[in-house]
Amino acid sequence: MVIAQVWIEHANLKLDQTYTYVSDDDSLCAGKRVLINFNGRNIVGFVDSVERSDETIQQLSKRLGFSVKKIDDIIDQESLVTDELRNLAFWMAKETISPVISCFQAMLPSKIKPSSHHKTIKMETWVKVSDVQPVRLTPKQNVAYLFLKKHQEMSLTQWRSEFKSVSKKLEDLNLVIHFEKEASAKQEMVEMKADLVLTKEQKRAKKEIEKCKQNVVLLHGVTGSGKTEIYLQMAREVIQKNKQVLILVPEISLTPQMVQRVKERFGSDVAIYHSGLNDQEKYEQYQLIRHHQVHVVVGTRSAVFMPFDHLGLIVMDEEHDQSYKQDSVPQYHCRDICIQRAMMHGCKVILGSATPSLDSYARAVKNVYGLVTLSERINHSLPEVICVSTKEAMRKGQSYMLTDLLKEKINDRLSKGEQVILLLNRRGYSPVLKCADCGEVLMCEHCDVALSYHKQDNCLKCHVCGAVKPLIRICPKCKGTHWILPGFGTQKLEEEVQKSFPGVVTIRMDADTTSKKNAHQKLLDAFGRKEAQILIGTQMIAKGLDYPDVTLVGVVNADAGLNHTDFRSVETTFHLIVQASGRSGRSEKKGEVVLQAFDPHHYAITTGASNDFLTFFQKEMEYRRLTQNPPYTYLISIVFSDMSESVARNDALSFASVLRKENIFKVLGPSELTRIQDRHRIRILCKGKDFLKMKEAVRHAVELHRSNKKRSSLSVDVNPQHLD
Ligand code: ADP
Ligand code: ZN
Repeated sequence: MVIAQVWIEHANLKLDQTYTYVSDDDSLCAGKRVLINFNGRNIVGFVDSVERSDETIQQLSKRLGFSVKKIDDIIDQESLVTDELRNLAFWMAKETISPVISCFQAMLPSKIKPSSHHKTIKMETWVKVSDVQPVRLTPKQNVAYLFLKKHQEMSLTQWRSEFKSVSKKLEDLNLVIHFEKEASAKQEMVEMKADLVLTKEQKRAKKEIEKCKQNVVLLHGVTGSGKTEIYLQMAREVIQKNKQVLILVPEISLTPQMVQRVKERFGSDVAIYHSGLNDQEKYEQYQLIRHHQVHVVVGTRSAVFMPFDHLGLIVMDEEHDQSYKQDSVPQYHCRDICIQRAMMHGCKVILGSATPSLDSYARAVKNVYGLVTLSERINHSLPEVICVSTKEAMRKGQSYMLTDLLKEKINDRLSKGEQVILLLNRRGYSPVLKCADCGEVLMCEHCDVALSYHKQDNCLKCHVCGAVKPLIRICPKCKGTHWILPGFGTQKLEEEVQKSFPGVVTIRMDADTTSKKNAHQKLLDAFGRKEAQILIGTQMIAKGLDYPDVTLVGVVNADAGLNHTDFRSVETTFHLIVQASGRSGRSEKKGEVVLQAFDPHHYAITTGASNDFLTFFQKEMEYRRLTQNPPYTYLISIVFSDMSESVARNDALSFASVLRKENIFKVLGPSELTRIQDRHRIRILCKGKDFLKMKEAVRHAVELHRSNKKRSSLSVDVNPQHLD
């Protein structure tokens, strides 16, 4: 008999422990999924470990003091995870203070996730030759038969299309038989390109990375300085040693050029893994890697969990990007996982960015990471940046969306047939709908946020929970019928652009226009084919776009992000400005950037405009030191949520009092956050310098909360990226 310890999937994930089941099947091993009965329900479990035993089920039950049950069925033929991934899950659970099963779930593509027993694996029909001996074949039949025999197997589709005239006959003669096989990823063909000759600067940087004694290297290089080319050439060397390469990007659809360039270099040796794939596609890519059919993986956050077994290099491009942090349980940061896996495989991690995160740069300054810099663009020209005071312009009677200077520049580009990108980090038409008579602002019923007006659909939307409401005519408070629309979003900006430049073709890219699969790609391709002159969008257009004819970027409300109370809002604003500016003038044509801001003298704007990362770094570090925020301290946020405000608050209070006994770090709160989807949220924030002790104390308090069967649900965020 086999005794198995099984993780159990449970809706509220409060069961962070394994349960004992038994099986007669000797093939049962760790990492397989099983069907079991748990409290009368049939659910899927994930086998943690097994042990062979001569005991009978009765003896075992007697010894353990409860009646042990048998496993109903074993789902998988082979173990889903490698030993390394299994250890990674435990490590991650500990570091992020989340249940182990949630880490396994985060790691596996949903087709093979612990909860996925309903999802079937797609099969395809293939052919092979049978044991029947061929007699008297025609020459044509013989060719086909021998071809298949030599290649052992082929997909039925390919077999029939290649040997149209004889394939069917050979099947009828039972010389060729069908069999079912898991469908695997189809590779599209791309034209291959050779490596570029590295510039002197690139050669130096590459050598420095290779020689670096630290395993983690921060590659700080301005946009267009040739970082990607360095990654690709280092990847080539790793592949030649028959090792694997992982290249991470923040979002595939926003960085289409990266995928393109990797494919042009390595052809069918590449797997692409990201959240935009459907379950079947994800599963196929996962299998490509597990069965060593490719060496290179390009992907987003979750690609860091691919089943590599001999990694030679990890590249994390745009390492500062916030999408590398998962915002649901387990709230891991992809960078931490990269570093952990690289350590297990003994390989290097390159963190690349034009605007490194303060956390990473501070580590590089302290020699925890290596630091390599590329300070010149390949084409030796950074765009010229002009700051405009929106306040000043409004005083002169100009539009607050498009100042006269920006309009003039746009006109100039349009007349030259060049292209323009306008960035406004707010979607919709207007962020609020306000009653002109009483000042009432329409709020979401389920969240404590104002509803945004969307003119095109003539409706109100909550940008937090996604609720959509029809527009109302009469103010619920004073019965007034006049509404005003203060502020503006991308829809209103697009309207203003079309009014100012009649006949111009615009493309708008924001969450509203890109909800469908491949929508990003279609919009970007159209812009690339110059079907539109102006691309208007939210922060999603600031990322990796590379269009040679874009010579003007306008950041319409550059300091909008500074109003947030979050301690990282200055950093985010700086990143956005520099990244957006980096889209302009990337080929021979000289680029320009116009930054419109209400406070153009703020250091995020001035240093962003001059692309002066070091000055920004120093100023921002000083501010963090004064406020004792990261990277000077560590934070752990614990949020309690419940339909009842008092339940959440009381749980938070008792949690805080457990932590306060420690007295090694600060415990801030409880503080109330915005209500989301009818759930009140109360936060406790731990802040301190002794990260290990702080994590230990929080882990302990979380266990206490779970064992006391508290009602509110709790989510822990170690190293939160934002606090709103
Ligand atoms: P980054 O990743 O730093 O933004 P890229 O690697 O994308 O920079 O390079 C910017 C541009 O310069 C790209 O169009 C790229 O093809 C080109 N480039 C990069 N390295 C070289 C080189 N050694 N010789 C010629 N062109 C290069
Ligand atoms: Zn809402």
